Amino acid sequence: MRTTLKSILRLQRLSILAVLATVLTATVGCATQGESGSPANVETGDSSRAALKVASTVSPITSLAENIGGDRIRLTGIVPEGTNSHTFEPAPSVAAILAEADLFIANGLFLEEPTIRMAEANQKEGAVHLILGPKTITEEEWVFDFSFPQDEGHPNPHLWTAPHLALRYAQHIRDELVRLDADNAAYYEENFDALAASINDLDRRVMAATETIPPVNRKLLTYHDSFPYFGPRYGFEIIGAIQPSDFTEPSAREVASLIDQVRESEVPAIFGSEVFPSPVMQQIAREGGAEFVDELRDDDLPGGPGDPEHTYMGLILEDVRIIVNALEGDPSPLEGYDPGHVFEGESGAVYPQ
Ligand SMILES: [Zn+2]
Repeated sequence: MRTTLKSILRLQRLSILAVLATVLTATVGCATQGESGSPANVETGDSSRAALKVASTVSPITSLAENIGGDRIRLTGIVPEGTNSHTFEPAPSVAAILAEADLFIANGLFLEEPTIRMAEANQKEGAVHLILGPKTITEEEWVFDFSFPQDEGHPNPHLWTAPHLALRYAQHIRDELVRLDADNAAYYEENFDALAASINDLDRRVMAATETIPPVNRKLLTYHDSFPYFGPRYGFEIIGAIQPSDFTEPSAREVASLIDQVRESEVPAIFGSEVFPSPVMQQIAREGGAEFVDELRDDDLPGGPGDPEHTYMGLILEDVRIIVNALEGDPSPLEGYDPGHVFEGESGAVYPQ
């Protein structure tokens, strides 16, 4: 909310500057008329005027772009936090943002099809579309499962919940920013290096914290199926996901078999998500003898815009803290990690809420 207000104020400031610039140009233009034959080049002091315009879909990707682009890009997220990004349909007004973007960044792998279609239909001349998922893993590495079944052909798109894959996303974003805005290349490189150091530190801490979970408890059963690339990296067995591919509720038979699975696995907790409240999870947990923890998130950053934890790193930190605590591990390796932005100053990035 704070950033939204801030960005409105910033927009107002920009329009005042634009009006001033017009007045100045007119005045100076009159004064110099007949001398040079062309209007004087007026410096407005508005350095953001020429800044690269970047639009990105879900907030973890927006956060990665924000950390690399810092205050040198004009960044606008598209998918509001706390909505179902898998079924999100952009409002017609989003077309104007997409039409202005020099760089459009999406996850792909069928996550944001309507937004990608709108971006393609409104793409301005010379705009670059960076679709991260297919550049990060090959088709052989696609994961299919209950929520993303192979016969529907849409792999699980949640690559970013695995920090080592998010780092590859960040590399692709850096490469495009450097290519499109060479004047600021050193700044983007420096921010990327700091971001990579932060994500690598986080990855090591996640490794250390998850290793404290008793091996028999290193099992993930989630409602929304966000951790298939995270699980194998940190030694978790993904025992299942509950949300059917059409985002309805599982059938009575599926619920019964999940209850059996939870009972057999003797896992202490199963996980829901704030974005997808599900009454059947309560039932599966209760009858399966596990605790139900409904606080995991995959694209809704913790806190609100402007808060220090409202970053990609904050998201992973919070999820891992919840998982490690619930599965009877020791989260202390996570303590002292700073999930904040790696750059100085304010980016003005817009995160719709
Ligand atoms: Zn998701």
